[in-house]
Amino acid sequence: MAFKERKKPFRLMVMESLARRMHLSRDDRNKYAYWVKGFEGELKFDEMTQELKCECLILNDLFLLVNGKKVQIDTLIVTAKGIYLYEVKNFEGVYYYEGNKMYSGRSRKEVYDPLNQISHAATLLRQLIEQMGYDLPVKTFVAFMNQNFALYQAPMIEEILLPGILRSHLAQVNEISGQLRQSHRKFAEEIKLMHEEDLSLHNIPYYEESLLKKGVTCCNCGAFIKKYTQSINSVCPFCNKKELVTDTVIRQFEEYRRLFPGLRINATTIFKWSDNQLSAKRIGYTLKQYYKAKGSGRWRYYE
Ligand SMILES: [Zn+2]
Repeated sequence: MAFKERKKPFRLMVMESLARRMHLSRDDRNKYAYWVKGFEGELKFDEMTQELKCECLILNDLFLLVNGKKVQIDTLIVTAKGIYLYEVKNFEGVYYYEGNKMYSGRSRKEVYDPLNQISHAATLLRQLIEQMGYDLPVKTFVAFMNQNFALYQAPMIEEILLPGILRSHLAQVNEISGQLRQSHRKFAEEIKLMHEEDLSLHNIPYYEESLLKKGVTCCNCGAFIKKYTQSINSVCPFCNKKELVTDTVIRQFEEYRRLFPGLRINATTIFKWSDNQLSAKRIGYTLKQYYKAKGSGRWRYYE
């Protein structure tokens, strides 16, 4: 099991809600699809690193602030030989290098070179490691996950992990013998605590409540479930996924809170948000049970 698990990014969850609940421009839909794909690539990489048998600590998705600069790390593996840092890409199609720059074969436009991205992250990480008082070498890699990806004129460097060599690279990591020292574990523990969730809505299109479709969506396929059940469980008519209605209420609450941080939420808010599909009684009961009530009477809200 990973020492730090990956969660679906906040930005992606917000975009997921917007994609279901309002009209997105073509650009925004493309952006959303690109984010989904990126996340899928990361999950695929996690599945592979989970199979590592060597002594190591895997930290997935770290968002750190180093000397006032933000750094996002896809995967960091603490091994007995030092730190392995990975930038994970799920690019599809043909790309090529020309004069130290990376281009998309389709648009012929320059793309942000992941080698620069990882080197930027490594610089900040090295500063951080030093400031934390550790002496750990950092090795960087860019893992390309997509089988339908080709990269021409790429520099012949160990750092670039094309889909065809990912497995052999991880087999090499697996060969690392030696045990983690106490300082390795302490470092992993400390850096895990430094992670902050990235709650910025950068690159998210403008939205407001009146633009969003109200209703209850399925926890699995995301479809709107029109007629909601009065029993303890609901079953999605499209994908047959079963969910406890209590969990549905919590999901609706969390989604609303994510979209409208800072707004006060009470039972009526969730009743309206679910387009009157969930029973008011069940909402009231669930909120009371799982959230902290503030204020009283008609001013009561939950956090
Ligand atoms: Zn469903």
